[in-house]
Amino acid sequence: MNGFIDLHIHSRFSNDGTLTPDEIASRAKELDFRTIAITDHDTLEGVYEESIAAQKYEIEYIPAVEVTTEIRSHFFHVLAYFIDVNSCASLHLIDRLKEIRMNKNLYRVNRIGKLGLKISDELIALVQKGVLIVGPMLAGDVFRQDANNNHPLIKQMMEKSGKEAMISFYKEVIKKIDKEYEERRWLSTIEAIEIINKAAAIPVLAHPGANLFFASPEEIVVLKEHGLEGLEVYSTYHSPDQIEYYKNIAKDLNLIVTGGSDYHGAIKPKVAFGCIKINDYTIVEQLRQAHLKKM
Ligand SMILES: [Zn+2]
Ligand SMILES: [Zn+2]
Repeated sequence: MNGFIDLHIHSRFSNDGTLTPDEIASRAKELDFRTIAITDHDTLEGVYEESIAAQKYEIEYIPAVEVTTEIRSHFFHVLAYFIDVNSCASLHLIDRLKEIRMNKNLYRVNRIGKLGLKISDELIALVQKGVLIVGPMLAGDVFRQDANNNHPLIKQMMEKSGKEAMISFYKEVIKKIDKEYEERRWLSTIEAIEIINKAAAIPVLAHPGANLFFASPEEIVVLKEHGLEGLEVYSTYHSPDQIEYYKNIAKDLNLIVTGGSDYHGAIKPKVAFGCIKINDYTIVEQLRQAHLKKM
């Protein structure tokens, strides 16, 4: 059986993806993909719908998630393949991510309240549910409250930057609040890798050559010691030199080489659907073998 694989795609279930699982599976079929993994950020909510969509278009689907993690304020994205959505460890992982988001957002809401600004009850309810709330969403809510119209800070932003006032509020106020938040903003990379292993899933470090997520060989060694099993070598973030570089590191450390487009839809227009066509099904076989060993 022929066909390509793409192990890094985002759907609408990621707060930053735009396609539905059905649209993803249908496009994948059209472009001759045999296997896809949909790796939404910090959520497993899409898995059921995604597996139905993949069945409909007769393509293989790997349940997965991309977890936001950090070590000493440095971000790492960790992909988890063949994750069992019903296992206690998976539920624990999603709970931990929700708890961390909730604590951070409660801190933001309190600080904005202390400035004398109002936030809607609807947004506060979302914060209490642990929903992912991006900074501009919070800024937008503050600007929509009539009660804030006469607040000196809002007036000052309006005078200074007019239409862009909301963006300025996000950059000058919310980002400052985020900086003073001392607690860990994301799950620790090592804790995430350990939980992913407990969920019988395969932890893979995503796009290690991307500027924001750059991982040095030394850091990859440490992560491997804590249970990392793969390295995303083929990525739209990587230059041909970086692909060679990380392929060699993966070989030296005996890590599974994976790859995917990191397609998001309209939000990242430069990354087209199916722009990375990997024609090596042994990647899927290695991930599956590693997963079965844990069962
Ligand atoms: Zn990522
Ligand atoms: Zn991604």
